[in-house]
Amino acid sequence: GKEEELGKCVSRIMVFVRVRPMNKKEKELSSRCCVRIVNNRDVYLTEFANENDYLRLNRVKGRHFTFDGSFTDSATQEQVYSTTTSELVEAVLQGRNGSVFCYGATGAGKTYTMLGTVENPGVMVLAIKDLFSKIRQRSCDGSHVVHLSYLEVYNETVRDLICPGRPLVLREDKQGIVAAGLTQYRASSADEVMALLQQGNRSRTTEPTRANETSSRSHAILQVVVEYRVRDATTMNIVNRVGKLSLIDLAGSERALATDQRTLRSLEGANINRSLLALSSCINALVEGKKHIPYRNSKLTQLLKDSLGGTCNTVMIANISPSSLSFGETQNTVHWADRAK
Ligand code: ADP
Ligand code: MG
Repeated sequence: GKEEELGKCVSRIMVFVRVRPMNKKEKELSSRCCVRIVNNRDVYLTEFANENDYLRLNRVKGRHFTFDGSFTDSATQEQVYSTTTSELVEAVLQGRNGSVFCYGATGAGKTYTMLGTVENPGVMVLAIKDLFSKIRQRSCDGSHVVHLSYLEVYNETVRDLICPGRPLVLREDKQGIVAAGLTQYRASSADEVMALLQQGNRSRTTEPTRANETSSRSHAILQVVVEYRVRDATTMNIVNRVGKLSLIDLAGSERALATDQRTLRSLEGANINRSLLALSSCINALVEGKKHIPYRNSKLTQLLKDSLGGTCNTVMIANISPSSLSFGETQNTVHWADRAK
């Protein structure tokens, strides 16, 4: 039946690119726009070195990439949510796990996309809103229970962002790998969630050396677990189902690019990047259809083991700046996204 169908269909990774608007500084320095998005899918990258090049190259479209979808700087949070994540929310209500990642350099718009602001809530908040409205539509007996946990991986240390405290230990149990003692917040409406997530986001680890730049090395993971009872169509027995959606605001990818041998020699450097590198390895292995996926190599990939690959839905949103000032990082991010397809 349905279960078997789901089991058979192995999903691929859906990859999207979102370019944020130019910021004040980028405008003041009269940087140029390196990114052109065509037909909500195609991305053209061109680096303009100077005014002459710009005029000469203006007719050239630049290096071309194509994705499952691409968002211009005027795309709304709702458009990003409905194109990338709403199907995964539907799947979670059918007991199928999924994960959505925001990848990109610091300042490229990952947290804006995932968390957003009070005026413009992002994917995390919109997903929970949508989840509750879908649950309301399909049941009136309160048979669905929604639990949230919000955690951080920083330097291969796992911390609870809802009740910050001592580092959490990962343990393997019947359900898979769990962070022992992690808060399971029972949510009953979407309204309470924005404040909870914003508060959690403020608890993310801040760079000691870069005080005004929050959390560029930390991965924030929101896990939404939906448990519900359904009557099995064949046996007519009531069975429990569980679906889990993981929404991940990854650490800045510029760190991963600095992983040459010299950087790796410093323990800190290796730790900072381990989760991001391990995620890349897992994604590569999944894309290449390998049997062995190296989940064990980092805390992030251990935590996501049951939400990545197999029959899970996986979505990557690559966040980029349009400005020539960030051309190198943009190019790296888009190349990485291109490999994840
Ligand atoms: P990151 O989390 O990747 O380091 P942020 O999400 O914090 O980057 O974005 C950097 C700045 O740019 C923030 O002030 C954010 O509000 C703004 N920003 C990012 N993306 C957008 C967008 N699509 N529209 C408007 N502002 C954005
Ligand atoms: Mg951020």
